[in-house]
Amino acid sequence: MAGILFIISAPSGSGKSTLVRELRKQVVGIDFSVSWTTRPPRGSEQNGLEYTFTTREEFERMIAAGVFLEHAEVFGHYYGTARKSLEEARLAGHDLMLDIDVQGAAKVRAKMPEAVSIFVMPPNPRVLRHRLFNRMRADAMQSGVKVDKEELRRRLGEATKEIENYREYGYILVNDMLDRAVAQLEAIVLAERYYRNGEAIAYNSRRVLEVAAACLQRNSQERLKPVLEAFRIMGSTGQQQLNFEEDSDEEDSDSDEENSDDD
Ligand code: ADP
Ligand code: 5GP
Repeated sequence: MAGILFIISAPSGSGKSTLVRELRKQVVGIDFSVSWTTRPPRGSEQNGLEYTFTTREEFERMIAAGVFLEHAEVFGHYYGTARKSLEEARLAGHDLMLDIDVQGAAKVRAKMPEAVSIFVMPPNPRVLRHRLFNRMRADAMQSGVKVDKEELRRRLGEATKEIENYREYGYILVNDMLDRAVAQLEAIVLAERYYRNGEAIAYNSRRVLEVAAACLQRNSQERLKPVLEAFRIMGSTGQQQLNFEEDSDEEDSDSDEENSDDD
């Protein structure tokens, strides 16, 4: 494709969809690839907007027909990126953002090594749990059901494994303060357009390039240290047992307020 291909991955609940939504308000000329999935819609999700929802049978037919650039099984459901998304962005002369998991990202990078990859980290396990629980509770309330605790555990259980892949990504964002993370994501997009296409940055160009450079994975070790420690991911020693602190009040009732991100 002529435009830039951006890949963004993160453990579920880190705020990746929120960041991408905010980015698209700030930056024009970047399309979002609407993935196909066999998971059911949640909350206010609409078919064709967040995802195109389909059955396993149809998805498997599409795999056989070569519809997907990549696909993967995540949390027990299929997810896939249609080749058509790339073609459409190319025809429009736009950049394209893929929100895909670490398996999908590895497959796309192997096929398209020029892709710009961004990994979003939550600041610590407790914040991740709060965000994921609160989102699941909001979705559950909308659908008039209870939070699926098994699904919550399953998603949190994958988080550490996903974070261990951070070294495969060119840029790392720590989504602590939302405004700052959005500004960093915007800076990455503008810097890549500047370096690859010579596209001028309209204002504060020096600052924008500095912010993007600070997010490069190779420049992020100090910034990442506390996050990796909180998730007990330590250099070459690999993953250690991590206990996502469960709040007893949360276990008692879905309607209790979760603590804010700040505590
Ligand atoms: P993901 O797409 O990574 O699964 P979401 O974008 O759905 O995650 O975010 C999970 C929840 O966390 C949402 O309720 C969202 O509003 C909230 N959230 C996202 N980023 C932040 C942030 N920086 N501070 C506080 N809450 C956040
Ligand atoms: P969710 O169910 O929370 O929307 O997404 C679960 C995971 O699937 C997230 O990590 C998300 O990035 C990933 N995902 C969404 N679409 C795709 C896709 O097309 N391909 C792959 N490999 N992963 C996807």
